[in-house]
This record gives sequence, C-alpha cells and structure tokens, in this order.
Amino acid sequence: MLDSLLNTADELHQRALAVPLERLNCRWAQRADLALWVRRDDLIDASLSGNKFYKLYYNLQQARALAAREICSAGGAWSNHLHALAAAGQQQGIATRALVRGERPASLSATLADAERWGMQLDFLSRQDYRTSARRGSKDCQDGGQADLLVDGCYWVPEGGANLLGALGMGVAGWAIEQRFPAAADICTAVGTGTGLAGLAARLSPGRRVLGFSVLKGEGTLGRDVARLYSACRPRGGGACWGLIHGFHGGGYGRSPQATLASFWKDFEQDTGLVLDPVYTLKLFWGIYQLAQRHYWPRGAQVIAIHTGGLQGRRGFDCP
Ligand SMILES: *Cc1c(COP(=O)(O)O)cnc(C)c1O
Repeated sequence: MLDSLLNTADELHQRALAVPLERLNCRWAQRADLALWVRRDDLIDASLSGNKFYKLYYNLQQARALAAREICSAGGAWSNHLHALAAAGQQQGIATRALVRGERPASLSATLADAERWGMQLDFLSRQDYRTSARRGSKDCQDGGQADLLVDGCYWVPEGGANLLGALGMGVAGWAIEQRFPAAADICTAVGTGTGLAGLAARLSPGRRVLGFSVLKGEGTLGRDVARLYSACRPRGGGACWGLIHGFHGGGYGRSPQATLASFWKDFEQDTGLVLDPVYTLKLFWGIYQLAQRHYWPRGAQVIAIHTGGLQGRRGFDCP
C-alpha cells in the first residue's frame, strides 16, 4: 500500500505543489538575518484547511474503498479535525459522526454548529465514556490491518486524524517542499499528535531537519508516536531528521494566550499580514521568534514555517 500512496501524480500531490510558499516580511526575522518563509497550507482548500485536509485525504479514499456506511471520529468543542471531517462528509456525500467530550451545551460552539449544519451526527459522551470509546476507535485504526478500520460499517479516524494514512497524507506537503525548495532550510511545524511532523519528515530528504513545536504541556508518548509513524511511512533511503521542541505551549493546549503571547500575536499579524490561529500556528511562530532571539540559527539561515491552518478556531478566542 505504501508504494501506491507515493504516487506523485495523484490529486493530493498536485494540489500540494500549487500551495504558495511566501517570503515573510517580518521585522524580528530581518533583525536576526533569518530568511523566514511560510508555506500557506491554510490555503489548500476553502473549507478543510491546513494539515487536516492532508490527514483526511487518504482516510476518505480508504473509507470509500471499503464502502463504509459512515466515518466516525472524536474531538472537543473547537476541534479543527471534526470541523474538517464534517466539511468533507458534506462535500463528498459521506455520513459522519463524532464523539464529543462532555454534555451537549445549551448553545454549541461555532465549530460544532458548523459541523452539525453540515450533517455530522454529534454524540455527546461523559468524560469517562469518551476516554474509553475514543481510545477504542484510535487503537483499532492505528494498529490494525485495513479490515480492522471498519467497525460495524463505520470507518474510524482517531482523534486529530492521528493514523498512518494521516501521516502519509501530510507527507505530501513534505514532498512538495522537496520539489519547490531545493535550498537548505529547516522546516518548522506546530505539533499536536505529531502525525503531521512524522509524515512531513518521512517525505523530506536525509539532509534536512524538521522541527516540531509542541503545543502540549506534557511530553507523554509524543516522541514515541512520532518515531513509530515516521518509520512506517518513510520511503527507503529517504527521511529527514526530526526533533521536538517543548516549552512554547503558552500555558497549555487550547488556553487563551496570556498577555505576552497575546501582544506577540497582535504585533506579528500587524507586521506580517499573516493571520494565525491561537492553538497551533501562534505557538509555532512564538517558538521560532524565541529561538531567533537566542540566535539558534546562524545568520543568513533559511527557515520554512508551515501554516497548518486552523483559522476557524479563532472564533473561540479574543483575537487581535
Ligand atoms: C491539528 C493541527 C495541528 C497538529 O497536527 P498533528 O498532526 O496532530 O501534530 C497543527 N496545526 C493545526 C492548525 C491543526 O489544526
């Protein structure tokens, strides 16, 4: 299966190739003599933005190939993943269902309201039940052979799109960088489950380095998860080196940015004209900024940041 998914003529590869790669006009990067580029994967699709588009792509193909009755997944009230999955289900005429943590609130988050409007069935579960069910779904589709992906006609995509097909999808963005940007450059991305990081690094060449900025407070099994997916989707002889960078989570997952981070957010958007989401890409650029201040990169270095999208999540926060 791996070989057939490395077919560079497929639609995903072609769309990834067309994603703009822009030189960012940014004062602090200029001061550090850093050539900062941004790959605009937030623009890859109008409704499924950023890395969720990539991570769902082969999963959707697989669900169709298995003639799944519906696609099921899990997530929280502001989940970019559920939002993208609901949009995909509506576009492609596939039923979707989501397990959502907690009781159904009197008024849904903007994210879940969209999802429901697009036809996604929302099943609200207690935290306990959520943990059991969401984990079962994830385990079935991460470890299993293809047949295991289907549980009672339902194709399971784990929370965050964290499975092998998700990593292979995001790998296509790595392939596109390899085609479009042959010069030496570190590639930086925000990390939640690490699926995207694993895929990206796997499809880049051995001379390169991919830095994943974790948005989570704890380290947990993240390193192991990335290593496992990376080896599973690395083509023979390929694969960049990758690393995780901790400490720029800004208070933890989904937290409102505190004063310093909020003012960085505002200044950055005014300075560069690039709009960030508060959960992922804000943390990424905050991390790059901090490293640049500490002269982590030599003068004249080139850095490519991936804008992994997620802008729909801005609706849950006070934004600049
Ligand atoms: C989900 C998401 C990520 C994290 O991707 P992982 O593959 O889970 O590490 C990064 N950025 C945005 C905008 C996301 O929505």
